[in-house]
Amino acid sequence: MSPCLFCSIVDGEVPSRMVYEDESSIGFLDISPFHRGHTLVIPRRHVVDGTVDPSVWTEVAPGIVAISDLVKSRLGATGVNILSNAGADSGQAVFHFHVHIIPRYADNPGMGALSHRDPGAAEDLDGLHALLTSG
Ligand code: 5GP
Ligand code: ZN
Repeated sequence: MSPCLFCSIVDGEVPSRMVYEDESSIGFLDISPFHRGHTLVIPRRHVVDGTVDPSVWTEVAPGIVAISDLVKSRLGATGVNILSNAGADSGQAVFHFHVHIIPRYADNPGMGALSHRDPGAAEDLDGLHALLTSG
């Protein structure tokens, strides 16, 4: 197994609730979501973070747009926070580049509500996955 958790997810050695894939990237539900539908988009190739290679942003861009559309249409999100941590002191914990797509809802808006995980956002991730991938 790869020493990198997200490479292992790309390789299918570690399971994930995948909601998007293309030739250069995959998107899957975050296991500990800040808000309902929190998804990560990662390049298939191993890149440590988004500051080392500008082309990696191009590789994840279609997934970012597609997943943003998905959480708006299927979950009723009215906005998304799109962010990527680079370096341990930024809060990065997994050192394979990833972009967080955090759906936001009208009843809990703003940056203040981004700093704590919603209670209940991690409930029924399997049901949420089915809702995002059906049809
Ligand atoms: P970071 O802090 O590195 O920007 O974000 C890492 C994210 O990966 C966190 O939001 C965390 O919940 C998520 N995460 C960590 N381990 C796993 C895992 O095994 N599966 C999934 N789906 N997400 C994970
Ligand atoms: Zn990796």
